[in-house]
Amino acid sequence: MPLFPLFADLQLRPVLVVGGGLVAERKVEALLKAGARVTVGAPELGTGLAAALAAGRIAHRAGLFSEAWLETAWLVVAATSDPAINRRVAAAAADRRLFVNVVDDAGLSSFHVPAVIDRAPLAIAISSGGAAPMFARLLRERLEATLDHALGPLAALAARFRQRIRARHAAPAARRAFYERLFNGPVASLLRRGQTALAEAAFEAALADRPAPILGSVVLVGAGPGDPGLLTLKALRALNQADVILHDRLVSREVLELARRDAHRIEVGKEAGRHHTTQAGIHALMLEHAHAGRRVVRLKGGDPFVFGRGGEELEFLREHDIAFEVVPGITAAVACAAYAGVPLTHRDHAQSLRLVTAHCQSSLDTLDWAALAQERQTLAVYMGVGELESLRDRLLAHGRGADTPFALIENGSRAQQRVIVGTLAQLPEQAHRHAVRSPALLILGEVAALATRLHWFGAPPLGVDDLAAHEAMASLPQRTQPSAAAEIRDRMRCRAA
Ligand code: SAH
Repeated sequence: MPLFPLFADLQLRPVLVVGGGLVAERKVEALLKAGARVTVGAPELGTGLAAALAAGRIAHRAGLFSEAWLETAWLVVAATSDPAINRRVAAAAADRRLFVNVVDDAGLSSFHVPAVIDRAPLAIAISSGGAAPMFARLLRERLEATLDHALGPLAALAARFRQRIRARHAAPAARRAFYERLFNGPVASLLRRGQTALAEAAFEAALADRPAPILGSVVLVGAGPGDPGLLTLKALRALNQADVILHDRLVSREVLELARRDAHRIEVGKEAGRHHTTQAGIHALMLEHAHAGRRVVRLKGGDPFVFGRGGEELEFLREHDIAFEVVPGITAAVACAAYAGVPLTHRDHAQSLRLVTAHCQSSLDTLDWAALAQERQTLAVYMGVGELESLRDRLLAHGRGADTPFALIENGSRAQQRVIVGTLAQLPEQAHRHAVRSPALLILGEVAALATRLHWFGAPPLGVDDLAAHEAMASLPQRTQPSAAAEIRDRMRCRAA
């Protein structure tokens, strides 16, 4: 049966909800949001509805359903768990020509409640006419993900200036073109950046037909570690709106597949030691496309501000007056830890976390090793696959226990993920034995041992036996290892000499 879609104004209008449980409570909340005066009829109220009654938000008719309850109502909802009562409510409402919704019973309902996407004052309502409510819900989820939250304020702005827009663009075609520019242009982008005053100024400029001050723009987006499910909604929206995507090699194929089909994808990847596009080359590409008025997404693995040169790129854009936004992503340390079952902090094992990069000797030289070697903290080492030996030696030399557990996570969050665990003493040997390749992240610290028990994603960790042997040793009195550390410290001194 085709339905007639309708948005009802319930402001201050009495609405009756029959039923006092959780289902009724959800309907009541939606009705209150629309400003309705809600009376709940039920022998007794659940805790949520009782609280609403105590707060004076609803009225209560105690007892079993009686037709007299319908007297002042504009609309009725039957939400009891008793089908016979629901049927009686529906029949009584029909007698009085009142619209009634019987929850989860399309046949008894004369109006349906749609799935709603709320971008007030905009609202999108979806109905399947009772045929497949689950499809309506799934569609809602999909639209929720693609419609950005700046739409609400944008519509509110348009509403405030409606008369002036009409006066300025009397012809419907011109008005339509104006709204289209509003929808896609700088005003919307400023609202997304939370810059209301500038958005209003840009709006005034658009109304006066002054050329828009901003042409193209760049969104610096964190793509996360690989699993496309770890993208943020904002990242997904940016990918949906992009004209050009400049992405690193580390960004997974699955993530790129979510981008707008006709977006121009350019790989500007960098591999350890082998640079495809220089940083200057990337800057030039951003500038070229932004100047051509395109929406550029600069897509980086993980988070753009964690070992991602995001800062440098933004400084360059600022120098050239290109507008930008930043969308954070889930950084490798956070993602790899989660997908390997390693809590980065733990009340019993680690009170702090350090993110460190170790991609070459000179970067190692600048680190504060005494601080890094402290116990009861977690190190997350990025880009360290090539420097594991030197890393191990320096940590031992500065007193970190040789039996400190590590977890090396290769291709974290991806289908090929591998986790290797062991102890600091064996770190480079273990990595070599299992032929660990980039991208891999090292987590070092007491918490890493938990991977053996808490892993849940992909293949079980490798090297568990080695770690278990050391765990048994760890139950011996503490500090049985300093001799090893002292030995290595001596070795280091010799090397330095
Ligand atoms: N901006 C990125 C880091 C870039 S540096 C972020 O926030 O994650 C590149 C290093 O990140 C790699 O050498 C590796 O150490 C780590 N890395 C990135 N993605 C990874 C993944 N899926 N699995 C393991 N390590 C990863």
